[in-house]
Amino acid sequence: VNKHSAENPLLPSCRRASELASAAVDRELTRRERWALRFHTLLCSACRRFAAQMRLIHQLFADISDSRRQRLQIRTLRLPRQSRQRIKQLLWEEGNRPPQK
Ligand SMILES: [Zn+2]
Repeated sequence: VNKHSAENPLLPSCRRASELASAAVDRELTRRERWALRFHTLLCSACRRFAAQMRLIHQLFADISDSRRQRLQIRTLRLPRQSRQRIKQLLWEEGNRPPQK
C-alpha cells in the first residue's frame, strides 16, 4: 500500500492522506489539503475507502438535527482522547488492509 511513501506535498503518503481524511471530519480543509487528499485517493484505493468512511461520519454529523448533534458532541467529548485515537487507528488499519484475493 505504501509504495508512494516519500513526502511530496503533491502526493502525500498514506499516513498523511489518512490524517487529512480524519481532519476533514473536524474542520474545513485548506484548498491545498483538499487537493492533496483528492490526488492521493485517485491513486490509492485503500485511502479512497478510508476517506469514504470519514466522509460518511462527517455526513452523519451534518445530517442530524442541532439538538441531536449537541447531545452527540457531549458524548464524544466524554470519550477519552485515547479512545478516539484508537477508533481512528482502527479505521485506518481497516482501510489499509491488503486485499484478500
Ligand atoms: Zn494511500
